[in-house]
Amino acid sequence: AHLDRIAAVDGAVGAFLNVDAECALSQADAADVARKEGQATSELTGVPVAVKDLIVTRGQVTTAASRILEGWVPPYDATLVRNLRAARTPILGKTNLDEFAMGGSTEHSAFGRTANPWDLGRIPGGSSGGSAAAVGAYEAPVAVGTDTGGSIRQPAAVTGTVGVKPTYGTVSRFGVIAMASSLDTPGPMARTVLDTALLHDVIASHDPLDSTSLPDAPRDMAAVVRAAQEGRELTGLRVGVISELDGGEGYHDGVVASFHAALELLEAAGAQVETVSLPHLEYALDAYYLIMPAEASSNLARYDGMRYGLRVEPTSGPVTAETVMAATRGAGFGDEVKRRIILGTHVLSAGYYDAYYGSAQKVRTLVQRDFAAAWDKADILVSPTAPVTAYRFGEKDDPLAMYKLDVTTIPANLAGVPGMSLPSGLSDDGLPVGFQILAPQRADDRLYRVGAVLEA
Ligand code: GLN
Repeated sequence: AHLDRIAAVDGAVGAFLNVDAECALSQADAADVARKEGQATSELTGVPVAVKDLIVTRGQVTTAASRILEGWVPPYDATLVRNLRAARTPILGKTNLDEFAMGGSTEHSAFGRTANPWDLGRIPGGSSGGSAAAVGAYEAPVAVGTDTGGSIRQPAAVTGTVGVKPTYGTVSRFGVIAMASSLDTPGPMARTVLDTALLHDVIASHDPLDSTSLPDAPRDMAAVVRAAQEGRELTGLRVGVISELDGGEGYHDGVVASFHAALELLEAAGAQVETVSLPHLEYALDAYYLIMPAEASSNLARYDGMRYGLRVEPTSGPVTAETVMAATRGAGFGDEVKRRIILGTHVLSAGYYDAYYGSAQKVRTLVQRDFAAAWDKADILVSPTAPVTAYRFGEKDDPLAMYKLDVTTIPANLAGVPGMSLPSGLSDDGLPVGFQILAPQRADDRLYRVGAVLEA
């Protein structure tokens, strides 16, 4: 049924970069057999999943939506893909993204843009826009995304779906093509909180192949959701509204109105809603756009035209390692990726390191301390997931205009805390709005509990 749906609508939506129907169907058959033999390891056994094309799949092309990896067939599976295979969830295909996950609109893919199922003239968010659109357009019931600065939560928000960025280290980064390693966090996307929880439980695992993998990664989230769905109350839960992210310049009125309506629902469920200030959030966006490019510039050094992926030789002059590298990287990377590599190498260069990268790391520590202090006052923190609803293609051509919209999602990545975006109705423009919930590290269960109650 999902393959039929993809055939019917993906020409217009463009969520997938490739679909492997034969492979998905044979995995579905294997899942059927496992179920009949009582060997289903998850409730998602046999339930198809879409996977962001930043995540390597053995024998199946993986591109990071970049020309530099066009046609590359990985010889191994990411750990999270191994977990999907162990649970026998058929992989429908690989979804579109901003090249190397750099962007917030999926307009920066080398292989064409993805449309928002709510309005095909608008962006589906990004960088996991393909995964969000696939779920939003009913092409896949669940999907995997990655969140370095909001790339799961923001596309979920603008497509009316649920997206979770787990605690950093919960889902292995092994086989997830690196953008900014200290921030990269794979996670689940779906149309309901329970479905995200079920997928969370499949992909989360401790992995010795990822040195930052948590030994005690939060799991069993589906049980948390079901318990919350029974009680449907949040008596005594202390909710902190992040005052720095509660509307103001740059926020749509309809987004703020929807956010405040959701706060009333929390109060009705018995929660105590108060305002909490995290004063250094003012500088979080600036710190992110120094740290992220710095790490990305180092991670992307591996695309040298020699090891794997694209190789372009210079059309004139000598063929040396350096000229091949320059020709390959010049042809293989898109503008947004080049911009961030240049920015990243600049802030890491001698003479600028302390002023830019060093200062940004200090701000990161201050943001982490703000969160630590906030947890004394609140059990969860909340804000709109994104300041605006889905914008029209081309509306944010100026890179800074796009970067600024990440203000609401970036703090969680700097602090490594888990976050969820949950649909909170429509804005006055008729487009979906996301409600963001943040919790302390390893307290992912709070997101699922609150999400389950609010969703009802
Ligand atoms: N939009 C942010 C950026 O462009 C976040 C990207 C992400 O989370 N991968 O960097």
